[in-house]
Amino acid sequence: MTAKVPVQEIPLVDLRIQYEQIKDEILAALRRVMEQSQFILGKEVENFEKQFAEFCGVPYCVGVNSGTSAVWLALLALGIGPGDEVITSSHTFVATSEAISWTGAKPVFADIDEKTYTLDPAWVEKAVTPRTKAILAVHLYGHPAAMDALAAAAEKHKLLLIEDAAQAHGARYRGKKVGTFGHAACFSFFPGKNLGAYGEAGAVVTSDKVAAEWMRKMRNHGRLGKSPHEFIGFNCRMEGMQGAVLGVKLRYLDSWNQARRENARRYHEKLQGLPLVLPRESEDARSVYHLYVVRTAARDALHAFLHEQGIRSQLHYETPNHLMPFYRKLGYQEGNLPVTEKVYREILSLPMYPELSESQIDFIAACIRKFFDGGTR
Ligand SMILES: *Cc1c(COP(=O)(O)O)cnc(C)c1O
Repeated sequence: MTAKVPVQEIPLVDLRIQYEQIKDEILAALRRVMEQSQFILGKEVENFEKQFAEFCGVPYCVGVNSGTSAVWLALLALGIGPGDEVITSSHTFVATSEAISWTGAKPVFADIDEKTYTLDPAWVEKAVTPRTKAILAVHLYGHPAAMDALAAAAEKHKLLLIEDAAQAHGARYRGKKVGTFGHAACFSFFPGKNLGAYGEAGAVVTSDKVAAEWMRKMRNHGRLGKSPHEFIGFNCRMEGMQGAVLGVKLRYLDSWNQARRENARRYHEKLQGLPLVLPRESEDARSVYHLYVVRTAARDALHAFLHEQGIRSQLHYETPNHLMPFYRKLGYQEGNLPVTEKVYREILSLPMYPELSESQIDFIAACIRKFFDGGTR
C-alpha cells in the first residue's frame, strides 16, 4: 500500500470564494425579495433586465429561466420553425442545438476555426441552402466568433444572425460588446458562467421591439402580467431571487472578467515552451475566458495525471453535437467536420475563475510541466 500524499484540491470553478466576498450584498438583495414577496418576475427582475440591457448596449432584455430557454425563445421570436435550417457550431454545449431542434427547425453543423473554436465563416457560406433561415454563432469559452464575416454572410444570403453568448458576457469583438451584433443574443446565468445566478436563469437581449414584446408574453403563458392570454405560450419566467442576485453580481462583472484575463495571461506565461496548444485571442477579439482550454494529443493521460494531483480539469465537450446519437438521423458521421473532430479529442479545460490565485496557477502549470518532463507521455 502506498501512502497517499495530501493534495491541494483545485476545482474547475469555485463559487464559494466569490459568495464570501459579496455575501452582505447578496443576503440584503435576497431579503428584499422576501419582503416584497415578488418571487417570480417582479421588481428585481425588471431592474436587472434594465441594467443588463444597458451593460450590453442593447435596448431590450427579457429575463428567462435558463440559457436554453433564451436560445429557444429567441429563435421562435424571430420566426424560426419547422422546415427551416439554422447553421451553428457542433463544438458547443448541447443546449445550442437542442434549442434549434425544439423550434422544429433543423440544426446544420458547420466546422470551426482551429484557433478560436468558433464558426468558420467560409464553412458557414458553404452550408447555406434555400432552407437556411439563420446563423447561430456561439462565442465559445468566452471568445467572440468572427462577427464581421458572419454578419456579411448573413446579409449576403438574407439570413438572421443570432448570438449564443452564454459563455461570453462582456466579451468584445472589434471593440463592440457581444450581444450587439445579431438580431438577438442569448445569455445563460447558470451559476458557473461568467455572470452566474444562484440557480437557473438566462436572458435574451435584442434591438427588435416586436420580438422583445413577444418573448415577454411567450415566457409568461402568452400574456403580460394578468392581462388576457393572447396565444399559446409557455412558462420560462425568471425568479425574483435570481434577478436580485444577478443585479448585485452585474456590478462586479467587469472586474471579474478582468481577473479572468489576468489569470489567462499568467497561465500563458507559465505554460510557455510545452507541447500544448494554448488559447489564442484573434486580433479582433477580447475574450472573457469563461474557460481556459488547452490542447494536446496526450489529453487523456494529462487529464488523469492532473486529477491525481487534485486538479479538477474537465472536458468541454466530450462529444460534438453532430456525433450525438440523437442527431445521427440528420445524416452526420465521423469525418464530416475535420477541425471539430480533431479538436474535441485534444481539449482540456484547466481551472478558471476570477478568484483563482497566482500560486494555484503556478502549481497547475508546474504539474503540467512535470507531466511532460517526467516522460509520462
Ligand atoms: C450554458 C450554455 C447554454 C445553456 O444555458 P443554461 O442556462 O444551462 O440552460 C447554451 N449555450 C451555451 C454555449 C452554453 O454554454
